[in-house]
Amino acid sequence: MGNPLYDYCIVGAGAAGLQLALALQQDTFFSSKKILILDPDPKTANDRTWSFWEQGEGLWDHLAWKTWEKARFISPGLEKSYDLLPYRYKTLRSADFYRYATEKIQKDERFTWLKERVEEVQGHHPVTILTDTGTRYTADFVFDSRLPPEFKTGEDEYCRVWQHFKGWVIETEKDCFDPAEFTMMDFRFRWKDRCSFIYVLPESSRRALVEFTFFSPVLEEQAVYDEMLLRYIRDFLDTGPYHLVEQEYGVIPMTDFPFHRYSREGLMKIGTAGSWVKPSSGYSFSNAGRFTKIILENLRNGRKPHKGILSGRHRKYDTLFLEILRSKNELGPQLFEEMYRNNSIQSIFRFLDEDTTPLEELKIISSFSAGPFLDALARKTFGMRR
Ligand SMILES: Cc1cc2nc3c(=O)[nH]c(=O)nc-3n(C[C@H](O)[C@H](O)[C@H](O)COP(=O)(O)OP(=O)(O)OC[C@H]3O[C@@H](n4cnc5c(N)ncnc54)[C@H](O)[C@@H]3O)c2cc1C
Repeated sequence: MGNPLYDYCIVGAGAAGLQLALALQQDTFFSSKKILILDPDPKTANDRTWSFWEQGEGLWDHLAWKTWEKARFISPGLEKSYDLLPYRYKTLRSADFYRYATEKIQKDERFTWLKERVEEVQGHHPVTILTDTGTRYTADFVFDSRLPPEFKTGEDEYCRVWQHFKGWVIETEKDCFDPAEFTMMDFRFRWKDRCSFIYVLPESSRRALVEFTFFSPVLEEQAVYDEMLLRYIRDFLDTGPYHLVEQEYGVIPMTDFPFHRYSREGLMKIGTAGSWVKPSSGYSFSNAGRFTKIILENLRNGRKPHKGILSGRHRKYDTLFLEILRSKNELGPQLFEEMYRNNSIQSIFRFLDEDTTPLEELKIISSFSAGPFLDALARKTFGMRR
């Protein structure tokens, strides 16, 4: 007997694929649909910590590791605390999210979740999906979280800046964190002249995730992150003895590469592979929730699933900001300082959520020194690149 025809196939059970699967499961409009999920990874490891801001209560509050109502920004010229309300900053451990999703989906007979790697996706109506087991599946529509191979070659005109970081969860013997306030960025402590900073998420007065992060075009040796973490903990946190509970390392593309153009008839790119990572911030977990809602609304109304997902205007701002980080990386801290000095945290969050009016955007943009942006605009417009 051949394989059944699925209504939807989700390639990749990550942040995007699983948020989409759970939303399809909840919505009665899709109650008769058959959905196939393919991913070779067992999705059990705590391989990342997802943080994001949102107003009021959210879908993932029951899984949250910790939430904060206050944040701090520190740079050589500015030290400021922000009351986030009506926003809260929330952190989820990926292992909790994967466990929850696995339990919900595996007991639902409309879903088939197989540990197989997708090798190729061909044709449309129906789409054929080939996996590493040699099996062919067919589906009416595919949501695909694989990065296109062209992105990896780097041989094109698009900017590639990386958000790369190493984080340690440490536990101290004395009280040294304020669990009510997290540190969004601390630029007092940088690697050479790179745009690099410390990010601290305190779970309690004795336990925190401390992360050394770069927004830069070049990755560094592991020893660099380790050295910077050791020095920051010793010189700025004054923790005394502590022990390392766990660590995470990550690389997130901050890019204007047009991933979404790899969507086609019968297939939509999702997640990082669908340009869902905000290029200027590296955040994408909450975009996955927002975009999933739009996809479902589109499907319910017979529209193409990706209609209305990416804002052209905001992506133009992102492109300029990325160009500065690529060509004048050392200016990054100054630009962040200007943004945090001159704007409320609520308008910064709205801007990064692409939820602002052109007038609000003008106010934020005019809070930056114009020079680096005009320079970046000239480079992008007249091709003055490397
Ligand atoms: C360590 C780390 C921390 C991060 N922290 C944050 C944060 O705090 N806030 C935030 O907003 N964003 C964060 N991000 C960025 C972003 O939210 C995550 O990368 C997010 O997981 C992206 O979702 P995704 O579904 O596109 O990719 P993933 O979650 O990586 O999922 C992709 C899935 O596709 C599977 N896959 C790959 N190839 C195939 C194939 N050929 N066939 C089948 N399956 C395949 C993979 O096994 C994987 O499970 C972080 C990223 C990292 C790496």
